[in-house]
This record gives sequence, C-alpha cells and structure tokens, in this order.
Amino acid sequence: MTTPDPCPSSWCTIHLDRIAANLALALGLVPEGRRFCAVLKADAYGHGIAQVVPIVREQGVTCIGITSNAEARAVRKAGFDGDLIRLRAATPHEIEGALSDRVQEYVSSPAIARELHQHIKSGRLKTKPHLALNAGGMSRDGLEIATTAGRENCLAILDLLGERIGGISSHFPSNLPQDLCHSNNLFQKQVDWVFDNSHLQRDAVCVHAGSSLTLISDTDIDTDMYRCGAILYGILKPELGFRPTLDLEARVVSLQDYPEGSSIGYDRAAHLSGGRRLACISIGYENGFRRLVQEDCVVAIRNQPVPVLGKVSMNAIVADVTEVAGVSLGDTVSIFGGASGNPVTQQRVEQQFGTILADLYTDWGLRNPRFYRR
Ligand SMILES: *Cc1c(COP(=O)(O)O)cnc(C)c1O
Repeated sequence: MTTPDPCPSSWCTIHLDRIAANLALALGLVPEGRRFCAVLKADAYGHGIAQVVPIVREQGVTCIGITSNAEARAVRKAGFDGDLIRLRAATPHEIEGALSDRVQEYVSSPAIARELHQHIKSGRLKTKPHLALNAGGMSRDGLEIATTAGRENCLAILDLLGERIGGISSHFPSNLPQDLCHSNNLFQKQVDWVFDNSHLQRDAVCVHAGSSLTLISDTDIDTDMYRCGAILYGILKPELGFRPTLDLEARVVSLQDYPEGSSIGYDRAAHLSGGRRLACISIGYENGFRRLVQEDCVVAIRNQPVPVLGKVSMNAIVADVTEVAGVSLGDTVSIFGGASGNPVTQQRVEQQFGTILADLYTDWGLRNPRFYRR
C-alpha cells in the first residue's frame, strides 16, 4: 500500500487483543524450563510486525524469529533488545546487512562459517550463530551430517567458529507422533555427536527444534526452546481457546436483478437457472480473493452464507444474495472472520481457497490495508 486509502475496497482487521491472548495461552503450554521463540517472519504472518512486537515484549518473550533483514530492522526499531534469530540460511550480503541489528544467523556450510568468522575477527559480529542441522528433516537449508562429507563440513564449521556457536537447531517436517519421535531421536543423536566432536559446553548452547504443532502435540521432545508462529495467530486448537486474529472484509457496491439464462463473469463460465438478485462485491484477486477458488465458494453477508458465482475478477466478485433479506448497498461482506457466528469457518475458507490459513493470512495482510483492534 503506497498511500493509506481512507475508503478501501477491502481491508483486514487485526485483533491485537487476540494475539496477546493466544500468546498467553501458548506460553502456558511451554514445559517448565524451556524457552519460547515468537516467530514473526512474513511480517508477523501478515499481521504487521511493528504492531506485534510490543505484545511479545509485554509478555516477557526473550526471543524472536524472523527471516528478512527488513523484519530484523522492524523488530529492533520496535525496541526489542533480546535474541533475534534468522530462521533460515542467509546470503553473505544479507548477513552483512543485518550485523547492526544483531541477528543470530544459521550456519550450515563452511563457506558461511568463513563469512561469519571474518565478521567475528573484525569485531562486527556481536551475536552467536546457530548450527543448523538437517537431522533427516526438511532438506531445506540444514546441514546433513548422516554422511561422511556432511560430518567433515560440520567439523570445519566447528573449527572456524568454535565456542562462538550459541545454538544448534533443526526443523521437523512432520508432527505426527511417530515422525516426531523419529526426528527427535535423530536430532538428539546428531547433537550428541556435535558435542562429542567439539569443545562446546552443553549448558552454553541452546538446542532447539519444534514449532507450534510440536508444542501442541502430545509428544514431549528434547528441546531447550519452541519456535512458534501459527499458534499466535489462532490457526490451531480453537478448543483450547486460541482465536483467529485476522478478518478480511469488503463491501456490496452494486445490487442488480438478472433474468434466467444470464451469463456471469468472464468466459461466461456460469449461468443463472432462474431470475436472481446478484451483489457485486469490492474484492478480487488483487486483494487476495484467489482466482482459483472452489466452485462452491461462499462469503457471508449479515452472517449468512451467499454463493460466489462465475470467475473472480481482478477487483470484483459476484454473489447470489436472492435468499438473504434486506441486503443493501454498502453492506459489509465477510470473506473470513468478522462478526461471531460467521458461517465461513477456518475449515471452510481453507477448503474453498485450497490452502492453509497461514498462506491466506500472509497474502491478505500484504494485499490489503490493515486496521488494528486493541
Ligand atoms: C516458520 C518456522 C517456525 C514456526 O512455525 P509455525 O508452524 O508457524 O509455528 C519455526 N521454525 C522455523 C525454522 C520456521 O521456518
């Protein structure tokens, strides 16, 4: 958004009070003696990182996870002085650019270890890097030390960075009980190997793996810290009191009656089998109402589900409001969230857009102006 629009077509309402409540609930689930890292990557999952940092600070969280340099800057600018971890591998250019924001980097190759070593020698790197292991996990950016070559690279990293290593991490690809046990065992074995082959002291290193799904699973894993994002935004476990934190809404901008046989939208992909009253709604794929939506998609007007008809336009959708009494020009339309009792549940919105809520949140938050509820 370049200039704030005083009268936006569609908008997000961000419930900061619910993020605070979700965080408090999540902290209550953390086993005694373990740490919690609040994951605020992707602009706090589309909610706005600058607005979420104060909540995290207020509840005494001492670790934040980000991915981009801009996010690191935003976290420091919001006054957070604690541990700031980049939860992915970074390029040398990114590492250099984040030195002044005291970002703790992941290291999983000798090349990056050499970069970090240079910055340590010049006194510019003040933070402790985390050794990122794959441990049979994501095969995304962690070092796989199941192979001889991997172990050699690990020894080279340990040689260069020595006791500067402040953490050892992995990321679990699945949180099904069996997978979790397997990943955890493998990770612990690899962590033991690292300690056996270095001068690192166990109590000086934060060994961490596990995300929101791990925290809410019944499997207790050996981690010094849980790194959680999704749970803060009410994506999981409504039965424990977690609540969704982002609403997406738009308005009815036209109401028209069309006769039987009328085609609707581009490519005449839909037709009316009888006369219907159709509402034009001010949201399209520009605003994250995805073009490849399911055919039985609904939005809510006056808390009633109304079917979306035809192909999604760039800036508009069409809904059949014939069955809802009293629909008026300017009425608010809920795509997700809003008034309680909205028939478009999380399960329904995920099904109709064919993806998970985290994907929708990050998209919607970027494509719409955000208004904040405290
Ligand atoms: C995104 C991410 C997390 C948080 O995951 P959630 O499922 O949102 O809790 C934790 N660790 C890493 C490495 C991540 O990339």
